[in-house]
Amino acid sequence: MNRPEILLAPGPTPIPPEVLLAQGSPLVYHRGPGFGALMRQVTERLKQLYRTDRADVLLMTSSGTGGLESAIQNVLSPGDEVLVPLAGYFSERWTKLAEAHRLVVRTIEYEWGRRVDSADVAAALAETPVKAVLLTHSETSTGVIQPVRELARVARDAGALVIVDVVSSLGAVPFAFDEWGVDVAVGGSQKALSASPGLAFVAISERAWQAHERSTMSRFYFDWSAYKRYAELPHPENPWTPAISVMQGLAAALELYFEDGVDGAMRRHQMLSGAVKEGVQALGLDLFGEGLDDNWTVTAIRAPEGIDADTISDRIRSDFGVVIAPGQGPLRGKVFRIGHFGYYSELDIVRGLAALEMTLERLGYPVKRGAAVAAAEGVFQEHASRDGVGTERG
Ligand SMILES: *Cc1c(COP(=O)(O)O)cnc(C)c1O
Repeated sequence: MNRPEILLAPGPTPIPPEVLLAQGSPLVYHRGPGFGALMRQVTERLKQLYRTDRADVLLMTSSGTGGLESAIQNVLSPGDEVLVPLAGYFSERWTKLAEAHRLVVRTIEYEWGRRVDSADVAAALAETPVKAVLLTHSETSTGVIQPVRELARVARDAGALVIVDVVSSLGAVPFAFDEWGVDVAVGGSQKALSASPGLAFVAISERAWQAHERSTMSRFYFDWSAYKRYAELPHPENPWTPAISVMQGLAAALELYFEDGVDGAMRRHQMLSGAVKEGVQALGLDLFGEGLDDNWTVTAIRAPEGIDADTISDRIRSDFGVVIAPGQGPLRGKVFRIGHFGYYSELDIVRGLAALEMTLERLGYPVKRGAAVAAAEGVFQEHASRDGVGTERG
Protein backbone atom coordinates (compact mmCIF):
# COMPACT_ATOMS: atom_id res chain seq x y z
CA MET A 1 0.00 0.00 0.00
CA ASN A 2 1.28 3.44 -0.86
CA ARG A 3 1.09 5.40 2.38
CA PRO A 4 2.03 9.08 2.81
CA GLU A 5 5.65 9.61 3.74
CA ILE A 6 6.34 10.35 7.39
CA LEU A 7 8.19 13.66 7.44
CA LEU A 8 10.84 14.18 10.09
CA ALA A 9 12.91 16.54 7.98
CA PRO A 10 13.57 20.22 8.67
CA GLY A 11 10.99 21.39 6.13
CA PRO A 12 8.60 20.93 4.61
CA THR A 13 7.02 19.77 7.86
CA PRO A 14 3.77 17.77 8.21
CA ILE A 15 0.62 19.70 7.43
CA PRO A 16 -2.37 19.52 9.81
CA PRO A 17 -5.68 18.30 8.31
CA GLU A 18 -7.30 21.70 8.97
CA VAL A 19 -4.66 23.32 6.78
CA LEU A 20 -5.07 20.76 4.01
CA LEU A 21 -8.81 21.32 4.02
CA ALA A 22 -8.43 25.09 3.98
CA GLN A 23 -6.07 25.02 1.03
CA GLY A 24 -8.32 22.55 -0.77
CA SER A 25 -11.35 24.79 -0.48
CA PRO A 26 -12.60 27.04 -3.32
CA LEU A 27 -10.33 29.92 -4.23
CA VAL A 28 -10.94 33.37 -2.86
CA TYR A 29 -10.45 35.72 -5.80
CA HIS A 30 -7.20 37.60 -5.20
CA ARG A 31 -8.59 41.10 -5.73
CA GLY A 32 -11.47 42.09 -3.49
CA PRO A 33 -12.79 41.96 0.06
CA GLY A 34 -12.38 38.21 0.68
CA PHE A 35 -8.71 38.11 -0.16
CA GLY A 36 -8.18 41.47 1.53
CA ALA A 37 -9.49 40.05 4.79
CA LEU A 38 -7.26 36.99 4.38
CA MET A 39 -4.17 39.17 3.80
CA ARG A 40 -4.98 41.27 6.87
CA GLN A 41 -5.46 38.22 9.04
CA VAL A 42 -2.23 36.53 7.91
CA THR A 43 -0.19 39.74 8.13
CA GLU A 44 -1.42 40.52 11.65
CA ARG A 45 -0.57 37.02 12.84
CA LEU A 46 2.86 37.18 11.26
CA LYS A 47 3.56 40.48 12.99
CA GLN A 48 2.77 38.81 16.31
CA LEU A 49 5.10 35.99 15.40
CA TYR A 50 7.92 38.38 14.44
CA ARG A 51 7.20 40.33 17.64
CA THR A 52 6.94 43.63 15.86
CA ASP A 53 4.60 46.61 16.16
CA ARG A 54 6.61 48.82 13.85
CA ALA A 55 7.75 46.74 10.88
CA ASP A 56 5.90 46.17 7.64
CA VAL A 57 5.36 42.52 6.84
CA LEU A 58 5.02 41.66 3.15
CA LEU A 59 4.03 38.32 1.62
CA MET A 60 5.48 37.02 -1.61
CA THR A 61 4.83 33.90 -3.65
CA SER A 62 8.09 31.97 -3.65
CA SER A 63 10.04 29.57 -1.51
CA GLY A 64 12.16 30.98 1.30
CA THR A 65 15.10 31.61 -1.01
CA GLY A 66 13.02 34.06 -3.05
CA GLY A 67 12.44 36.02 0.15
CA LEU A 68 16.20 36.06 0.79
CA GLU A 69 16.83 37.25 -2.76
CA SER A 70 14.25 40.01 -2.30
CA ALA A 71 16.12 41.27 0.75
CA ILE A 72 19.31 41.68 -1.25
CA GLN A 73 17.56 43.26 -4.21
CA ASN A 74 15.62 45.75 -2.15
CA VAL A 75 18.06 47.22 0.32
CA LEU A 76 21.47 46.91 -1.34
CA SER A 77 23.18 48.19 -4.47
CA PRO A 78 25.80 46.54 -6.70
CA GLY A 79 29.24 47.06 -5.18
CA ASP A 80 27.98 47.32 -1.61
CA GLU A 81 30.02 45.41 0.93
CA VAL A 82 28.34 42.82 3.13
CA LEU A 83 29.60 40.54 5.88
CA VAL A 84 28.51 36.91 6.13
CA PRO A 85 29.55 34.78 9.10
CA LEU A 86 29.85 31.37 7.41
CA ALA A 87 28.99 28.32 9.48
CA GLY A 88 26.92 26.06 7.26
CA TYR A 89 24.98 25.50 4.07
CA PHE A 90 22.44 28.29 4.54
CA SER A 91 24.97 30.96 5.44
CA GLU A 92 26.77 29.86 2.26
CA ARG A 93 23.54 30.51 0.38
CA TRP A 94 23.75 34.13 1.53
CA THR A 95 27.22 34.42 -0.02
CA LYS A 96 25.99 32.92 -3.29
CA LEU A 97 23.01 35.23 -3.43
CA ALA A 98 25.17 38.22 -2.59
CA GLU A 99 27.78 37.35 -5.22
CA ALA A 100 25.08 36.79 -7.84
CA HIS A 101 23.98 40.37 -7.20
CA ARG A 102 27.53 41.75 -7.50
CA LEU A 103 27.97 42.61 -3.86
CA VAL A 104 31.41 42.54 -2.32
CA VAL A 105 31.25 39.69 0.17
CA ARG A 106 33.41 39.49 3.28
CA THR A 107 33.18 36.31 5.32
CA ILE A 108 34.19 35.04 8.71
CA GLU A 109 34.62 31.32 8.35
CA TYR A 110 33.76 28.84 11.06
CA GLU A 111 33.86 25.11 11.05
CA TRP A 112 30.33 23.81 10.41
CA GLY A 113 28.53 23.18 13.67
CA ARG A 114 30.10 26.14 15.44
CA ARG A 115 28.21 29.10 16.85
CA VAL A 116 29.10 32.47 15.43
CA ASP A 117 30.86 34.66 17.99
CA SER A 118 29.66 38.26 18.19
CA ALA A 119 33.17 39.40 19.21
CA ASP A 120 34.50 38.12 15.87
CA VAL A 121 31.78 40.01 14.02
CA ALA A 122 32.48 43.18 15.99
CA ALA A 123 36.21 42.89 15.23
CA ALA A 124 35.59 42.31 11.51
CA LEU A 125 33.27 45.30 11.33
CA ALA A 126 35.74 47.50 13.18
CA GLU A 127 38.36 46.63 10.57
CA THR A 128 36.09 46.88 7.52
CA PRO A 129 32.72 48.57 7.86
CA VAL A 130 30.01 47.09 5.62
CA LYS A 131 26.54 48.06 4.50
CA ALA A 132 24.84 44.96 5.87
CA VAL A 133 25.47 41.82 7.86
CA LEU A 134 23.70 38.74 6.51
CA LEU A 135 22.80 36.27 9.27
CA THR A 136 21.22 32.84 9.47
CA HIS A 137 19.26 32.31 12.67
CA SER A 138 18.68 28.58 12.53
CA GLU A 139 21.51 27.04 10.49
CA THR A 140 19.41 24.10 9.35
CA SER A 141 22.43 22.21 7.99
CA THR A 142 24.01 21.86 11.44
CA GLY A 143 21.06 22.37 13.79
CA VAL A 144 22.77 25.35 15.44
CA ILE A 145 20.70 28.35 16.54
CA GLN A 146 22.95 31.36 16.07
CA PRO A 147 22.98 34.13 18.69
CA VAL A 148 21.17 36.66 16.52
CA ARG A 149 20.33 38.97 19.38
CA GLU A 150 24.03 39.59 20.17
CA LEU A 151 25.04 39.55 16.50
CA ALA A 152 22.39 42.14 15.65
CA ARG A 153 23.61 44.37 18.46
CA VAL A 154 27.23 44.45 17.29
CA ALA A 155 26.16 44.90 13.66
CA ARG A 156 23.96 47.86 14.53
CA ASP A 157 26.64 49.38 16.73
CA ALA A 158 28.88 49.31 13.66
CA GLY A 159 26.21 51.02 11.57
CA ALA A 160 25.37 47.98 9.43
CA LEU A 161 21.91 46.80 8.44
CA VAL A 162 20.92 43.50 10.03
CA ILE A 163 19.38 41.08 7.54
CA VAL A 164 18.39 37.70 8.94
CA ASP A 165 17.25 34.42 7.43
CA VAL A 166 14.63 33.23 9.93
CA VAL A 167 13.11 30.70 7.51
CA SER A 168 13.60 27.74 9.83
CA SER A 169 13.52 29.62 13.14
CA LEU A 170 10.48 31.90 13.02
CA GLY A 171 7.86 30.33 15.26
CA ALA A 172 10.25 27.60 16.40
CA VAL A 173 12.65 29.41 18.73
CA PRO A 174 12.50 32.82 20.42
CA PHE A 175 12.89 35.78 18.07
CA ALA A 176 12.04 39.46 18.57
CA PHE A 177 12.31 41.72 15.54
CA ASP A 178 11.81 45.08 17.27
CA GLU A 179 13.62 44.37 20.50
CA TRP A 180 16.67 42.85 18.80
CA GLY A 181 16.97 45.71 16.32
CA VAL A 182 16.66 43.58 13.20
CA ASP A 183 16.13 45.36 9.86
CA VAL A 184 14.98 42.57 7.57
CA ALA A 185 13.85 39.08 8.58
CA VAL A 186 12.82 36.52 5.96
CA GLY A 187 10.50 33.63 6.82
CA GLY A 188 8.78 30.84 4.90
CA SER A 189 5.48 28.99 5.08
CA GLN A 190 6.73 25.40 5.13
CA LYS A 191 8.80 25.23 8.31
CA ALA A 192 7.65 25.89 11.89
CA LEU A 193 4.19 26.99 10.75
CA SER A 194 3.47 23.69 8.97
CA ALA A 195 1.80 25.22 5.96
CA SER A 196 2.60 24.19 2.37
CA PRO A 197 5.68 25.55 0.67
CA GLY A 198 5.06 28.54 -1.59
CA LEU A 199 5.00 31.71 0.49
CA ALA A 200 7.87 33.80 1.78
CA PHE A 201 7.42 36.74 4.10
CA VAL A 202 9.65 39.63 5.04
CA ALA A 203 9.55 42.00 7.99
CA ILE A 204 11.07 45.37 7.10
CA SER A 205 12.27 48.08 9.49
CA GLU A 206 12.19 51.83 8.92
CA ARG A 207 15.97 51.79 8.38
CA ALA A 208 15.57 49.09 5.75
CA TRP A 209 12.95 51.19 3.94
CA GLN A 210 15.38 54.11 3.91
CA ALA A 211 18.03 51.86 2.39
CA HIS A 212 15.42 50.67 -0.11
CA GLU A 213 14.91 54.25 -1.32
CA ARG A 214 18.60 54.50 -2.17
CA SER A 215 19.05 50.99 -3.55
CA THR A 216 19.85 50.75 -7.25
CA MET A 217 19.68 46.98 -7.62
CA SER A 218 17.60 45.66 -10.55
CA ARG A 219 14.33 44.15 -9.40
CA PHE A 220 10.83 43.68 -10.64
CA TYR A 221 8.88 40.68 -9.34
CA PHE A 222 10.19 41.18 -5.80
CA ASP A 223 10.04 44.99 -5.72
CA TRP A 224 8.88 45.67 -2.15
CA SER A 225 7.46 49.08 -3.11
CA ALA A 226 4.90 47.33 -5.30
CA TYR A 227 3.98 44.88 -2.51
CA LYS A 228 3.60 47.72 -0.04
CA ARG A 229 1.47 49.79 -2.40
CA TYR A 230 -0.90 46.87 -3.01
CA ALA A 231 -0.96 45.90 0.67
CA GLU A 232 -2.19 49.38 1.50
CA LEU A 233 -5.21 49.26 -0.82
CA PRO A 234 -8.62 49.32 0.93
CA HIS A 235 -8.73 45.58 0.18
CA PRO A 236 -5.08 44.50 0.53
CA GLU A 237 -3.70 42.57 -2.42
CA ASN A 238 -0.51 41.26 -3.92
CA PRO A 239 0.82 42.97 -7.04
CA TRP A 240 0.83 39.63 -8.92
CA THR A 241 -1.42 36.59 -8.61
CA PRO A 242 -0.34 35.03 -5.31
CA ALA A 243 -0.43 31.36 -4.29
CA ILE A 244 -4.00 31.83 -3.06
CA SER A 245 -4.50 28.24 -1.89
CA VAL A 246 -1.27 28.28 0.08
CA MET A 247 -2.38 31.55 1.64
CA GLN A 248 -5.71 30.00 2.65
CA GLY A 249 -3.76 27.13 4.20
CA LEU A 250 -1.32 29.47 5.91
CA ALA A 251 -4.19 31.40 7.52
CA ALA A 252 -5.52 28.14 8.98
CA ALA A 253 -2.01 27.12 10.07
CA LEU A 254 -1.51 30.41 11.90
CA GLU A 255 -4.85 30.09 13.69
CA LEU A 256 -3.86 26.61 14.87
CA TYR A 257 -0.43 27.87 15.89
CA PHE A 258 -1.92 30.65 17.99
CA GLU A 259 -4.28 28.27 19.81
CA ASP A 260 -1.23 27.27 21.86
CA GLY A 261 0.36 30.67 21.46
CA VAL A 262 3.97 31.46 20.71
CA ASP A 263 5.16 30.44 24.17
CA GLY A 264 3.28 27.14 24.00
CA ALA A 265 4.85 26.38 20.63
CA MET A 266 8.32 27.19 21.98
CA ARG A 267 7.84 24.86 24.95
CA ARG A 268 6.69 22.09 22.65
CA HIS A 269 9.71 22.55 20.37
CA GLN A 270 12.04 22.49 23.33
CA MET A 271 10.43 19.28 24.60
CA LEU A 272 10.49 17.50 21.23
CA SER A 273 14.09 18.54 20.69
CA GLY A 274 15.03 17.21 24.13
CA ALA A 275 13.29 13.92 23.41
CA VAL A 276 15.14 13.40 20.10
CA LYS A 277 18.47 14.31 21.66
CA GLU A 278 18.00 12.05 24.69
CA GLY A 279 16.66 9.31 22.46
CA VAL A 280 19.57 9.09 20.04
CA GLN A 281 22.10 9.42 22.84
CA ALA A 282 20.45 6.47 24.58
CA LEU A 283 21.39 4.47 21.48
CA GLY A 284 25.00 5.49 22.00
CA LEU A 285 25.03 7.98 19.12
CA ASP A 286 26.75 11.36 19.36
CA LEU A 287 25.10 14.69 18.69
CA PHE A 288 26.68 17.24 16.39
CA GLY A 289 27.03 20.99 16.83
CA GLU A 290 27.38 23.60 19.55
CA GLY A 291 24.67 25.00 21.82
CA LEU A 292 22.54 21.84 21.86
CA ASP A 293 20.19 23.07 24.59
CA ASP A 294 19.07 25.93 22.37
CA ASN A 295 18.85 24.01 19.11
CA TRP A 296 15.13 23.21 19.00
CA THR A 297 14.61 23.06 15.24
CA VAL A 298 16.72 20.20 13.97
CA THR A 299 19.11 17.71 15.52
CA ALA A 300 22.23 16.66 13.63
CA ILE A 301 23.47 13.23 14.67
CA ARG A 302 26.80 11.64 13.88
CA ALA A 303 26.53 8.28 12.15
CA PRO A 304 28.17 5.47 14.14
CA GLU A 305 31.66 4.26 13.11
CA GLY A 306 31.53 2.24 9.93
CA ILE A 307 28.02 3.28 8.82
CA ASP A 308 27.53 5.98 6.19
CA ALA A 309 24.95 8.51 7.36
CA ASP A 310 23.34 8.54 3.91
CA THR A 311 22.71 4.81 4.24
CA ILE A 312 20.75 5.48 7.43
CA SER A 313 18.58 8.16 5.84
CA ASP A 314 18.07 6.04 2.68
CA ARG A 315 17.20 2.89 4.62
CA ILE A 316 14.80 4.46 7.15
CA ARG A 317 12.95 5.90 4.19
CA SER A 318 12.81 2.73 2.09
CA ASP A 319 11.95 0.45 5.01
CA PHE A 320 9.61 2.68 7.02
CA GLY A 321 8.67 5.63 4.83
CA VAL A 322 10.30 8.01 7.31
CA VAL A 323 12.00 11.01 5.71
CA ILE A 324 14.93 12.40 7.66
CA ALA A 325 17.58 14.65 6.14
CA PRO A 326 21.09 13.65 5.07
CA GLY A 327 24.15 15.74 5.91
CA GLN A 328 24.96 18.63 3.57
CA GLY A 329 28.32 19.85 2.27
CA PRO A 330 31.24 18.59 4.35
CA LEU A 331 28.81 16.73 6.62
CA ARG A 332 27.54 14.49 3.81
CA GLY A 333 27.79 10.87 4.91
CA LYS A 334 28.88 11.92 8.39
CA VAL A 335 25.66 13.17 9.98
CA PHE A 336 21.95 12.73 9.46
CA ARG A 337 19.37 15.21 10.67
CA ILE A 338 15.98 14.92 12.31
CA GLY A 339 13.63 17.90 12.14
CA HIS A 340 11.28 18.41 15.07
CA PHE A 341 9.69 21.80 14.59
CA GLY A 342 6.17 22.39 13.36
CA TYR A 343 3.12 20.18 13.68
CA TYR A 344 4.60 17.34 15.71
CA SER A 345 3.42 15.66 18.84
CA GLU A 346 5.16 13.28 21.21
CA LEU A 347 4.07 10.16 19.34
CA ASP A 348 5.42 11.43 16.03
CA ILE A 349 8.83 11.56 17.67
CA VAL A 350 8.36 8.13 19.27
CA ARG A 351 7.47 6.68 15.88
CA GLY A 352 10.56 8.20 14.27
CA LEU A 353 12.86 6.97 17.01
CA ALA A 354 11.39 3.46 16.82
CA ALA A 355 12.05 3.44 13.07
CA LEU A 356 15.59 4.66 13.68
CA GLU A 357 16.25 1.86 16.18
CA MET A 358 15.09 -0.79 13.73
CA THR A 359 17.02 0.78 10.85
CA LEU A 360 20.25 0.86 12.83
CA GLU A 361 19.78 -2.74 13.92
CA ARG A 362 19.28 -3.78 10.30
CA LEU A 363 22.48 -1.99 9.39
CA GLY A 364 24.39 -4.05 11.95
CA TYR A 365 24.65 -1.47 14.72
CA PRO A 366 24.07 -2.98 18.16
CA VAL A 367 20.78 -1.55 19.39
CA LYS A 368 19.07 -2.05 22.69
CA ARG A 369 15.51 -2.18 21.38
CA GLY A 370 13.29 0.48 22.83
CA ALA A 371 16.13 2.47 24.40
CA ALA A 372 15.55 5.62 22.34
CA VAL A 373 11.80 5.42 22.78
CA ALA A 374 12.18 4.96 26.55
CA ALA A 375 14.49 7.96 26.83
CA ALA A 376 12.04 10.10 24.84
CA GLU A 377 9.17 9.00 27.05
CA GLY A 378 11.22 10.11 30.02
CA VAL A 379 11.51 13.61 28.59
CA PHE A 380 7.78 13.75 27.82
CA GLN A 381 6.79 12.59 31.29
CA GLU A 382 9.10 15.11 32.90
CA HIS A 383 7.51 17.91 30.87
CA ALA A 384 4.02 16.62 31.67
CA SER A 385 4.62 16.64 35.41
CA ARG A 386 6.19 20.08 35.18
CA ASP A 387 3.01 21.24 33.40
CA GLY A 388 0.89 19.68 36.14
CA VAL A 389 -0.39 16.67 34.19
CA GLY A 390 -1.18 14.03 36.85
CA THR A 391 0.17 10.49 36.89
CA GLU A 392 -2.17 9.12 39.54
CA ARG A 393 -4.01 5.83 39.01
CA GLY A 394 -7.75 5.57 39.53
C1 LIG B 1 14.51 25.85 4.33
C2 LIG B 1 15.42 26.99 4.50
C3 LIG B 1 15.50 28.03 3.55
C4 LIG B 1 14.63 28.14 2.35
O1 LIG B 1 14.70 27.17 1.42
P1 LIG B 1 13.62 27.14 0.26
O2 LIG B 1 13.82 25.76 -0.27
O3 LIG B 1 13.97 28.19 -0.69
O4 LIG B 1 12.27 27.37 0.89
C5 LIG B 1 16.32 29.10 3.82
N1 LIG B 1 17.04 29.16 4.92
C6 LIG B 1 17.00 28.20 5.85
C7 LIG B 1 17.81 28.37 7.09
C8 LIG B 1 16.19 27.09 5.68
O5 LIG B 1 16.15 26.13 6.61
